[in-house]
Amino acid sequence: MKSKKIGVNTICTHVGEVKDTQFQGAISPLFMSSSYQYDGVDVKRYPRYFNTPNQEALCKKVAALENAEAGLIFGSGMAAVSTTMLAFLHKGDHVVLQKTLYGGTYNFVVEEFHKFGIEYTFTNGFSRNDFTSAIQDNTKVIFIETPSNPLMLITDLEMITSIAKDRGLITMIDNTFASPINQNPIDFGIDICIHSATKYMGGHSDICAGAVAASQEHIDTIWNIAKNLGGSLSDHTIWLLERSMKTMALRVKAQNKNAKKLAKWLDAHDLIQKVYYPGLKNHPDHNVAKKQMRGYTGMLSFELIESINANDFMKALKLIKQSMSLAGVESTILSPAETSHALLSAEERKKQGISDGLLRFSVGIEEPKDLIEDIEQALASVVKKELV
Ligand SMILES: *Cc1c(COP(=O)(O)O)cnc(C)c1O
Repeated sequence: MKSKKIGVNTICTHVGEVKDTQFQGAISPLFMSSSYQYDGVDVKRYPRYFNTPNQEALCKKVAALENAEAGLIFGSGMAAVSTTMLAFLHKGDHVVLQKTLYGGTYNFVVEEFHKFGIEYTFTNGFSRNDFTSAIQDNTKVIFIETPSNPLMLITDLEMITSIAKDRGLITMIDNTFASPINQNPIDFGIDICIHSATKYMGGHSDICAGAVAASQEHIDTIWNIAKNLGGSLSDHTIWLLERSMKTMALRVKAQNKNAKKLAKWLDAHDLIQKVYYPGLKNHPDHNVAKKQMRGYTGMLSFELIESINANDFMKALKLIKQSMSLAGVESTILSPAETSHALLSAEERKKQGISDGLLRFSVGIEEPKDLIEDIEQALASVVKKELV
């Protein structure tokens, strides 16, 4: 295990930067070449080989942020998830996946794995027994995602590592919701850490990208198939992502703080039935979260009291945008039942605890008092309307 030698803000700002040897500019120059000299050089560079100067720069930053030996940057979070899974899962292999996963990952598994002859089992829950009872003789990988979407349930990283180590399984985590600022799973023995960089790493709702961090050996295995599948990211977007990541720790810490404030305020509100935020002591997984996370993210979910229509409430918001995706500096809100979990049956949603009135709130960096004021005025306007 590598210990962090420099502070997280310094990693965000500097690690990996490409030196401007020609003009001594302060930031990484952007190299857009898709053609590099091959004669007399050590490395044959090509964008789909994930090794242009800007690609390599960001790989180093992601690795440093996750305390990993190496990293890879992909064209999307799903390119990172699918390439990594296919690098380790072959015909006849079996993977145990956590019960609740990002919808795209779930679809990838149930729609594609049978074509590759890969077997899978989703756990019934999050306990040790839920995972161990799903393991078969041909199990090769355990795949988890914590905190989960949208209820922010927490999977115990040390528990997963101990289950996997006993049996020689490879562990993978989708660490998107936590971001490397709040959680470094590799420190807890997880093998491979995956991100949708579209979310906290990009942070401004304007980039689609993915990232993986792991040992050099695992990254080499992923690279071998990655260059065949071709899910690399353009240098221009990589360069923008490097700029975004310089402020990631500042942004995420501000979002953690705002979300905690909002979670507490919502929890005390008469018109709010339930709040799901791992930073609240009443969250069922608060203690596990405390053990493995430095901050509790900018993500939370809540339910309004049943007499208030969630859609009417969202439409009445003026500052908080009703929109898809998450983790931008601007606050956004959505109904999981209508968006991320719309493809599940009503019965399955109910089983997972996702009611029609549940709202997922991605808290941004605005002043918390302005967010509170917006929610307050929206609640007041729907309550008034429904009383008339
Ligand atoms: C968005 C997201 C993904 C997929 O990332 P894309 O960049 O949209 O491909 C994977 N996992 C989680 C948890 C996500 O939120």
